[in-house]
Amino acid sequence: MFLNYILPSLLFIGVFQTPTLPNQDQFQSQRMTMIERDIKGRGISDKRVLAAMTKVQRHLFVPPSVRNASYEDFPLPIGEGQTISQPYIVALMSEELKLKEGEKVLEIGTGSGYQAAVLAEMGMDVRSIEIRKGLAESAGKRLKELGYNNVKVKYGDGYFGWEEEGPFDAVMVTAAANHIPPPLIKQLKEGGRLIIPVGSTTYYQTLTLVTKVKGNLDVRQIMGVSFVPMIGKMTGE
Ligand code: SAH
Repeated sequence: MFLNYILPSLLFIGVFQTPTLPNQDQFQSQRMTMIERDIKGRGISDKRVLAAMTKVQRHLFVPPSVRNASYEDFPLPIGEGQTISQPYIVALMSEELKLKEGEKVLEIGTGSGYQAAVLAEMGMDVRSIEIRKGLAESAGKRLKELGYNNVKVKYGDGYFGWEEEGPFDAVMVTAAANHIPPPLIKQLKEGGRLIIPVGSTTYYQTLTLVTKVKGNLDVRQIMGVSFVPMIGKMTGE
């Protein structure tokens, strides 16, 4: 009876269960593969960036439905039509800012909180602004639960920066802009760096690095990218 009926049905249930998620060890080994293949493999060499991305568990920043793909090198949906950036782009933007231990960094577009966690893990004092209330709340809660006491998240329009917390050594904008918001330049320290995707807010942008040198702006274009649009004052949405 057991073998004829119950055992086959148990096996049947087993086969058709929703696919089981990788366990901690499997996630870790996928993360190591990602670091070797997509981060070091594509030329990122900043030790602080590599160490931080080896440590931060990207799978804790994405919804369960896409968790299986956490360590693939592409953006993933995080709700409200928004995405967590591709790991290589997170690494590149973090490296290009040439960050030093303990610097104060402002991020615009908290999203899932993953980029903020990477910056915090690199030893930075992080401030991050998110314009979607639900995301600001969930990312703030997630970062707190993960013990990132060196990150403060604010709900608001990042176009205006965070004057009371400035000036900043570096600013990172993780949403597409059609111009560089003047308040962000104003809140940069002398020698400060700002990285931002500039172009069309709905198609493609050029990842642009701006350095404040003796009050002037040194501008360098890095590569073509595609980010979700910056809304609020930027686009009037
Ligand atoms: N850095 C995020 C991904 C960014 S996606 C991560 O690591 O997960 C871009 C984010 O920018 C979205 O969450 C979007 O809501 C937010 N955003 C768009 N316009 C903004 C604005 N004006 N100010 C602050 N955040 C903005």
